[in-house]
Amino acid sequence: MLRQAGSPALQALAIRMLEEWPAAAGAIPAQGDPSSFFSIEMHTSVPCDLGETFRVTLLGDAIHAMTPTLGRGANVAMRDAALLGHAIIAVERGEVGLALALTAYEREMAGYGFGVVRESAFIGQGLMGQDPLAA
Ligand SMILES: Cc1cc2nc3c(=O)[nH]c(=O)nc-3n(C[C@H](O)[C@H](O)[C@H](O)COP(=O)(O)OP(=O)(O)OC[C@H]3O[C@@H](n4cnc5c(N)ncnc54)[C@H](O)[C@@H]3O)c2cc1C
Repeated sequence: MLRQAGSPALQALAIRMLEEWPAAAGAIPAQGDPSSFFSIEMHTSVPCDLGETFRVTLLGDAIHAMTPTLGRGANVAMRDAALLGHAIIAVERGEVGLALALTAYEREMAGYGFGVVRESAFIGQGLMGQDPLAA
């Protein structure tokens, strides 16, 4: 229904949803440009087992995209970048082989990354009716 709704219908919906909020909150959509309302689809990744890797890896939204309820996607992406950077430096110094370094990076990244995906989904269930992720 939301996908088909035009801007004025979405504006009316936003106003209706804020009816029980303080009047100042409802005034924001009420005073908005009636042609400027649109719906956004939100998606989440589904935590999974990454297995072993040899030459290719992923970071950021490419592996653990999450719903925006915690606002942490970019933060986690930067943590990935730092961790992967250290892994690559260790490979360049000859301290570890590439496959081992990437697999260790992915294990750690998947642990905290998918943890935040689950936290975001949990908060999303309460805040915006997000479907729960499988255990
Ligand atoms: C509305 C909104 C609000 C958000 N607010 C927050 C917040 O407050 N805090 C927070 O931490 N996170 C927030 N996020 C999440 C955050 O933006 C993302 O998690 C983060 O940008 C992911 O970074 P990334 O580098 O993995 O991916 P991206 O930022 O998506 O970067 C991927 C890049 O790859 C490029 N690209 C894609 N395909 C190709 C190709 N074939 N060849 C070359 N380049 C390509 C894209 O153009 C893009 O520049 C928000 C997201 C949205 C949408």
